[in-house]
Amino acid sequence: MLHISCDVHTHTLFSRHAYSTIEENVRAAAELRLELLGSTDHFSSMLYPEVGKTERAQGYDPRDFQFFMNYGCWPKVWHGVRLLHACEADIVDLKGNLFGHDVVMTHEINGNPLRRECTLKDRILRDCDYVIASVHRDDFTMGATLAQTTQMYVSALEDPKVLILGHIGRAGVAFDMDELLAVAKEKGKLIEINEATFKSHPDATVACRRIAERCAELGVMISTGTDAHISHEVGHFEGVRGMLEEIRFPQALVATRDADSFLAAIRGALG
Ligand SMILES: [Zn+2]
Ligand SMILES: [Zn+2]
Repeated sequence: MLHISCDVHTHTLFSRHAYSTIEENVRAAAELRLELLGSTDHFSSMLYPEVGKTERAQGYDPRDFQFFMNYGCWPKVWHGVRLLHACEADIVDLKGNLFGHDVVMTHEINGNPLRRECTLKDRILRDCDYVIASVHRDDFTMGATLAQTTQMYVSALEDPKVLILGHIGRAGVAFDMDELLAVAKEKGKLIEINEATFKSHPDATVACRRIAERCAELGVMISTGTDAHISHEVGHFEGVRGMLEEIRFPQALVATRDADSFLAAIRGALG
């Protein structure tokens, strides 16, 4: 049986359309004897409306994203599970920019002026162990060429905090697979095979299988994430595991096979 001991794509209440606390997710992971849980709430315009200009920032209010700013208080190991804090950041344009890249933060959440202005993106990603980059809203890709959409994914993958490209099999954006996978391989970055796709988007599973097969042929590492939006889903990889076993996906290319392998992938790709 294929070993998958890490769930590195999960959501908590902070994602707003998700329903569990971080501790409920950790307990669910512990019950299934997972070694590692990565919590990856949405860093996205899905969460809160744009506010225009405030005294604290332009475009979005950093107070709406403060959940990401106090990760330091999370235990490294909780109920026996290694816990990582991360986020799933939206890719927002064809340049591969991530959400918040154009939001200039001038003040801390308490109203104190920042000594040096930074972008909301840099402030939030700074404290993340890794980042998943995903396309959710895809209107900006309409009419784009394959070269442009491929470059979008390549640029997102090249961001120094991005470790994983999320659910590219179901995002609905076409891309040149071999070109993208070559970059992932060269940089030691991971292509996600996403469990929620098997549960909620069965029409996209053929694409996911093709991506996994090509990763196996080219020697590209994958990550597995349930994309759980409630603790009940954490660690349940039936769809992903079934498909990977069917195509005899090599265990050595599964970065989420155990905690040590996933932590090594972070060190290797993000330094
Ligand atoms: Zn997503
Ligand atoms: Zn997600």
